[in-house]
Amino acid sequence: MIASGAVACSNSLLRAATSPVKGVDYYQRLGVTPFINAAGTYTVLSASIMPDEVQAAMAQAAQQPVNLNELLDASGDYLAKRLHCEGALVTAGAAAALTLGTAACVTAGNQTAIVGIPPDMTGLKNEVIVQKAHRYEYDHALRNCGIRFVEVETLDDYDRAFTDRTVMAHFFNAAEGGQISREDWVKVAHKHGVPCFNDAAADVPPVSNLWNYTEMGFDLVTFSGGKGLRGPQCTGLLLGRKDLIQAAKLNNSPNSNTVGRGMKVAKEEIVGLVAAIDWFLSQDDAAMEAEFNQRADRIAQQLQNVPTVQTKIFIPPVANHVPHLLITYDSDRIKITGREVMEKLRQGKPRIELNPATGGGPASAGLAGGANTIVVGVWMMQPGEDRVVAERLRDVLEEAAGT
Ligand SMILES: *Cc1c(COP(=O)(O)O)cnc(C)c1O
Repeated sequence: MIASGAVACSNSLLRAATSPVKGVDYYQRLGVTPFINAAGTYTVLSASIMPDEVQAAMAQAAQQPVNLNELLDASGDYLAKRLHCEGALVTAGAAAALTLGTAACVTAGNQTAIVGIPPDMTGLKNEVIVQKAHRYEYDHALRNCGIRFVEVETLDDYDRAFTDRTVMAHFFNAAEGGQISREDWVKVAHKHGVPCFNDAAADVPPVSNLWNYTEMGFDLVTFSGGKGLRGPQCTGLLLGRKDLIQAAKLNNSPNSNTVGRGMKVAKEEIVGLVAAIDWFLSQDDAAMEAEFNQRADRIAQQLQNVPTVQTKIFIPPVANHVPHLLITYDSDRIKITGREVMEKLRQGKPRIELNPATGGGPASAGLAGGANTIVVGVWMMQPGEDRVVAERLRDVLEEAAGT
């Protein structure tokens, strides 16, 4: 009793002694300049800022050691309950969840297979069926498990593509093409007794998407932890069938000789994602949308007297499904391209990053295209930043208009 009391006491003394320490500003020391995020949740732009509650929960979790397996199990149970699914696993991002979910299907708990993949696929099923239009830049996360893709286009193709080597059917939730619906994707896979995975990494809000796809019947679903959920950027959610989540864990860190060992999630990050889910579930879709619309409106108002400028709010259909401000202008009157505006804002003080669709190619996903377009992602801005972005945009466009 005395000993444990002494331990508790020294821990709290340690906390008291360390908490007032003001951290060094390493961005400044390293000469890396932060920016106002008028882009959105782009990975290379570090995606999102964690809410204060999440940062505080992580700082607190950093102060005591725990057993990682216990923490992964307990956080998984907690998240599965909150997200209305059978099982959950905190992963090192949605890409890691794609690898672990695929590994779960391929190895199905077979220890020799867990050590062997890839490249040893002896005796293992290795075909993942996917719609041709759903091939994307995350293919590698699945291929890490030694699988190969079998592409289909029509529902008939799909039904005929199942063989005794089929291990999984994969769906890209935000794909712009593809003729097979989510419901048919699930139905046909289950008819053949094959699990199906839905990558919905960037597809919250709405909040309810966190359970929509598992409830629809997908056996595995992933969301990125650091995008709209605003958890640690190096986290993701793998949700789904309990047996598959269990099999995914066997392929994951901290187990050493596994495909997932390099995808370690630290205790602070695991706790951070749990805190982010608690935060996100307390948000209201309508209130979030109203706030983002107001930001976009305030920016649009600042630009209303710039000659030929037109503004419009648009909401992409699936991924990044939040209001964005779209600005277009007559490039004969305002002599600057969207790309040049983007670069000027990037070079300014404070530095501002516009949405990468700015000045971009052909229209897609409800976005206007072309050199004379500016896209402002308002949802990752901090309070007050919309005003700074608006004034800077107005100044740059007015200068280019010679007014
Ligand atoms: C961002 C994204 C991922 C990867 O998410 P991370 O959490 O960064 O690993 C995977 N799939 C899609 C569709 C994404 O948009």
